[in-house]
Amino acid sequence: MSNTAANEPTFRESVDLMFNRAVALMDLPPGLEEKIRVCNATYTVRFGVRLRGQIQTFVGYRSVHSDHMEPVKGGIRYATSVNQDEVEALAALMTYKCALVEAPFGGSKGGLCIDPRKFEEYELEMITRRFAYELAKRDLINPSQNVPAPDMGTGEREMSWIADQYGRMNTTDINARACVTGKPPHAGGIAGRVEATGRGVQYALREFFRHPEDIAKAGLSGTLDGKTVVVQGFGNVGYHAAKFLAEEDGSIIVGIIERDGALVDDSGLDVEAVRNWIANHGGVRGYADGTYVEDGAKVLEHECDILIPAALEGVIHLDNANEIKAPLIIEAANGPVTANADEILRKKGAVIIPDMYANAGGVTVSYFEWVKNLSHIRFGRMGRRQEEARHQLIVDELHRLDEQLGDAWSMTPDFKEKYLRGADELELVRSGLDDTMRIAYQSCSQVWNERDDVSDLRTASYLVAIDRVATSYRAKGL
Ligand code: GLU
Repeated sequence: MSNTAANEPTFRESVDLMFNRAVALMDLPPGLEEKIRVCNATYTVRFGVRLRGQIQTFVGYRSVHSDHMEPVKGGIRYATSVNQDEVEALAALMTYKCALVEAPFGGSKGGLCIDPRKFEEYELEMITRRFAYELAKRDLINPSQNVPAPDMGTGEREMSWIADQYGRMNTTDINARACVTGKPPHAGGIAGRVEATGRGVQYALREFFRHPEDIAKAGLSGTLDGKTVVVQGFGNVGYHAAKFLAEEDGSIIVGIIERDGALVDDSGLDVEAVRNWIANHGGVRGYADGTYVEDGAKVLEHECDILIPAALEGVIHLDNANEIKAPLIIEAANGPVTANADEILRKKGAVIIPDMYANAGGVTVSYFEWVKNLSHIRFGRMGRRQEEARHQLIVDELHRLDEQLGDAWSMTPDFKEKYLRGADELELVRSGLDDTMRIAYQSCSQVWNERDDVSDLRTASYLVAIDRVATSYRAKGL
């Protein structure tokens, strides 16, 4: 389902075109514009692993787009479609994404050309450890220089192999665990990292719906409650976004698009039931409580209020952009809308909440994990009970009033329990993520609304991000 039209730019060209649109509205010193746009370096590695009686060769990449801040940050993707152009585009997006959400990192990305479903777990471990070894020995995995994370085709399991591999190679590095984020809780991970990107999509939409002027630009009104949503890609990101929007905001998931087709039900699909079905059957086909559509991509064109592309890049392109009905698109994936499609959609009046902001929840919580690893203490460990003790003081005081006032006043039944409980790590992570998503949106929305020459949120986001990267290069004397 990647960009089908022959006259589409590549993914990296697409990102550059969007960058160029924004930078044309800025007044950067000569040369700085190019310095920011170009990818600093891409390392390609070909390594062999002995599997099933023969040596198999794998091709992997780690690209550093910008090291105006170090470490550089970005996921590692496992897919057969991985190539240098894609990795460089994704690394560039990481630079802008980190700048936008004020995560103090430069941008990087990695990829391995592999179909992970074709390998046994122990084989994947051997391949991952070897790839990690190749990257770590060149400091392309390193807590202070380059910190990978999960992306498509990778997750907690791969991150814990990578962390362990780095630890074995750097036995005296006290910060070894900070060499990668997205680790499982028992291996130095942080609560809420798995849900983080989907959660961030939810927080982004909530913040959008707090801005009446912005809602009006999309021709929508009201809140997320009752809004119809189509989700393309039901992996970690799409699933969590759909789940939270349906369970907590009252949105109605009318379409779910997966590899083998799509499900549609205008009265709302049951997110958990579909997730379980996919887990047991490998796809959506055969699920009874919804209409199955074999040509899943067609469902991108389904009538809905909000379209959430949450899988691959280039799924909305020259050939289908005109048919998209959703007035609001939120890019949970990286680069799901090509530069050409972006232009068509803008002309049609659709509002796009761009990838660099919309899916930044993942790297934001990665930042929290990295900080946790470097400080060697879980969030909330020092303050939680003290917070509870202070709350206890107020509750005791209210009790005293309660006794004195008799029937005239009483506490709400669960007030005491709720108020007394100090925040645990998960609550702190969600609070930090919510705050990050709100502030980043506000800075983009302000540019979008205040500048006459900025007509879309993507350009506004690029302006905010590029300005921050430029400031940091200038501070370095460049
Ligand atoms: N792969 C994710 C992304 O594209 C997460 C990166 C990270 O946590 O460093 O943003």
